[in-house]
Amino acid sequence: MISKLTGRAVNEGLPATVEEALELHQLYSTTELSKAADAIRLKWCGDKIHTCSIVNARSGRCSENCKWCAQSACHKPEYRNTNAYPKEKL
Ligand code: SF4
Repeated sequence: MISKLTGRAVNEGLPATVEEALELHQLYSTTELSKAADAIRLKWCGDKIHTCSIVNARSGRCSENCKWCAQSACHKPEYRNTNAYPKEKL
């Protein structure tokens, strides 16, 4: 079963149904499932990663209101680091 579903996912991009996933969980070890998942990941995502980073450039002074961002002036955290990154270093 795991070979068939892995092949289907790799070759056709079709994921397991909920019922199939539950059956896989009951029949196979974590190691076997991880190996199958890795084959699918390699096919569709490759073996490279992309990274990104953010810097403390506005430190609570940004006029936007992105809910997740501590640099937004719209949020009032208990702690605010005021040492913004110097503009010339950006
Ligand atoms: S509040 Fe939004 S726009 Fe402003 S720094 Fe954060 S993520 Fe960027």
